[in-house]
Amino acid sequence: MKNEKRRKDLTMTPSAKKARCWKAKRSLPTIQTNSEMKDDTDSSDQAEKVKKKKDKREKKIKKEKKEKKVKKDKKKEQKRKDRSPENKFPLKRQRYEPESSSTGEASTRNHIQQEETTGDSLAQYNRNNPRPRAESSSLLKPEDKDADRCVTLLLFYQYVEPVWNEEQYQEALRIAETLATRHQLSGRMRVAREGFNCTLTSKHRTEMYDFCQSLRDWNDVFYKTEFKFTHDLPSAQAFPQLKVIPVVELVHYGLEGRKAPPIAQYSGVHLEPTHYHQKLAEPNTVVIDVRNHYEAVIGHFQPPTEADGEDTPPKYIDPKMRKSTEFPAWLDNPETQKELKGKQVLMFCTGGIRCERASALLKYKMATDPVVKDLGIKGVYQLQGGIDKYFKEFPDGGYWKGKNYVFDKRFSHAPLLKEEHVPEAKPDAPISSCEACGKPWDKFRGKQRCYTCGVPSLVCRDCLESKSKPRCDLCVAQNIRSKREWREKEQQEIEEYEKRSKARGVLLAATHKENQNNVTRLFLKNMCRKNMTDAILLDFLPGITHLVWKNRAGEFTGQGWVEMESPEAAAAAVARTGEVILGRALHIKFDPPDGKDVWPPPHSKV
Ligand SMILES: [Zn+2]
Ligand SMILES: [Zn+2]
Repeated sequence: MKNEKRRKDLTMTPSAKKARCWKAKRSLPTIQTNSEMKDDTDSSDQAEKVKKKKDKREKKIKKEKKEKKVKKDKKKEQKRKDRSPENKFPLKRQRYEPESSSTGEASTRNHIQQEETTGDSLAQYNRNNPRPRAESSSLLKPEDKDADRCVTLLLFYQYVEPVWNEEQYQEALRIAETLATRHQLSGRMRVAREGFNCTLTSKHRTEMYDFCQSLRDWNDVFYKTEFKFTHDLPSAQAFPQLKVIPVVELVHYGLEGRKAPPIAQYSGVHLEPTHYHQKLAEPNTVVIDVRNHYEAVIGHFQPPTEADGEDTPPKYIDPKMRKSTEFPAWLDNPETQKELKGKQVLMFCTGGIRCERASALLKYKMATDPVVKDLGIKGVYQLQGGIDKYFKEFPDGGYWKGKNYVFDKRFSHAPLLKEEHVPEAKPDAPISSCEACGKPWDKFRGKQRCYTCGVPSLVCRDCLESKSKPRCDLCVAQNIRSKREWREKEQQEIEEYEKRSKARGVLLAATHKENQNNVTRLFLKNMCRKNMTDAILLDFLPGITHLVWKNRAGEFTGQGWVEMESPEAAAAAVARTGEVILGRALHIKFDPPDGKDVWPPPHSKV
């Protein structure tokens, strides 16, 4: 073949050779330079032809370049649109499907890609949430580790302060639905203007991680969130569908909107499980179970019962609530206050959320209610991450006795080393009993409820079959025999609480106003001209950094301006407008500086 070509070359005339050469060059994709062209053609005719062709080619290239640019611009524009608020969440690249649906190289490549993504998310989560000491999967029987145990459960909540305005709230609702649907999650998402409270399940844990990351990408506030995962649950424990539920309060305390004490200002000290565990054993401590009574019955903390010398041992208290709305009245009850006198207070609940408002309410009362102030409470602490996290730190249960009631399909669970399905575990005997027959029993099953007050009934299998309808132990103890009696009692308690509070001149709870423009300058008026002092005001309104009392003539006329340390502190202060100090109802409002004078004046620093 090669020889043949060479032979042909030899027999060709020079001009034929040149023409062939040109033909060959023309087929090359590269662009030829002028000098090359000149070399190729000698005659002017040919030169013109070449020039024409060259012009044509250049035009084509220009056209292609232009088209490319238009395409690129279009892409850019699309990207910009994708980033705009109405379309903030473009669908991510297609993730890989479980092995069964795809095979071969593509599947392997996707698998690796997915592993890498998981690694990233995991690293991020591990950075933010230190790894629990025991993985729920580590001690399972081999047969439990099969494909049937593939469900991951995610619990998290996040309060937002200042609360979202209507527009932000509508966006939050939409985002909740969009992200959970995109990542194929099921379960409940309670969304309020004050934040999120969610219980979600998924069969793909990486989708869970991606969902959390998407939430963080949407709003920085979720970088503070403690996402709690439980892996390897049986597939039957996945929720069948997703429900996004708009609510007024994340936990219903009857403290909605203006009545809620701001958490940022008043919340208790958050203790990690190991520190909380130590505190549980300290003398002169009360441990308040802020869950409902039916949850507390089947399991709760049991701190040590001994203390040295004159100290009193730590004491567990169940407020015996049917629902959280009873908490403010319980806290205000003189008998409760006797228990709290001179003690340090620990609070706990399932995931930590109920402690947020509960501890804030107690601390708010400590700051504003003279009776509670006088109790001399030595600190308010709450269990970070709730019982859920404590169990992960203490797989043997620590100071916990019995089971932990949960609001997902498990109904309840025990610390890992006391779970019935773990081979070397030693499950606790039930600490509760069947409400109908009295035999030891700790499983809530079905939709059986107390027929007077409606709380879930603890009824054994035999009694459930015999369809006996018991009243709950609270209704028995309080001698409540009908729904009407229960409703009357509930109403009466609320009225008494309000009456007592009013008689003491205490507002029912703090109010909470939005401070969207982050104003920190406040105007105060209607103060007592005779007796008001710096010290009194600073004590009354925490967070003041600058104080301007006097008018130009140097007199105090009962009004003044203050600078607050943060927009939150300012909002909290404004929320307290109307509270009585030195016999007068204090008036507080936002008053942003007008820019004419220096604010805050340097000499006014407190
Ligand atoms: Zn029974
Ligand atoms: Zn009842």
